[in-house]
Amino acid sequence: MSDAIPRLLADAMLGKLARWLRILGYDTLYMQDDDVRIAQRARAEGRIVLTRDHGLAQRRGLRTLLINAQDLDTQLAEVIAVLGRPVDAAPRCMVCNGKLRRIPVEVARSFVPAYVAQTQTLFHRCAECGKIYWQGTHWQGIEGYLNEV
Ligand SMILES: [Zn+2]
Repeated sequence: MSDAIPRLLADAMLGKLARWLRILGYDTLYMQDDDVRIAQRARAEGRIVLTRDHGLAQRRGLRTLLINAQDLDTQLAEVIAVLGRPVDAAPRCMVCNGKLRRIPVEVARSFVPAYVAQTQTLFHRCAECGKIYWQGTHWQGIEGYLNEV
């Protein structure tokens, strides 16, 4: 069985990686907990565990992906090399993993600084926590990064 959108669980050492995977559309849970709880949750929800911990990566009965790199760019490349980019995935909120939905400029206008409303045209809002994203902030860096991959 292969999921169109990989379901992942990042352990405590991979918080930054988890945030970026969400923006790329991976369904990514982030957990700061002991190995037993992480393993239980991953099994219950069918998630692949991303970890830098060899012990956790070798746990039996668990799908894991050992992340070797220290820096974010290489870590992302490691994940993408194994799992591929999610197809047709909505980007997810860096903060809470909720799905981002496109919202019209008129709606976004009341939530963002005036200069942003004047200069930006593409806005997304998190369906879970309500955080607003626009192209000038996170997206630019990400698109730049993706072009390099
Ligand atoms: Zn959110």
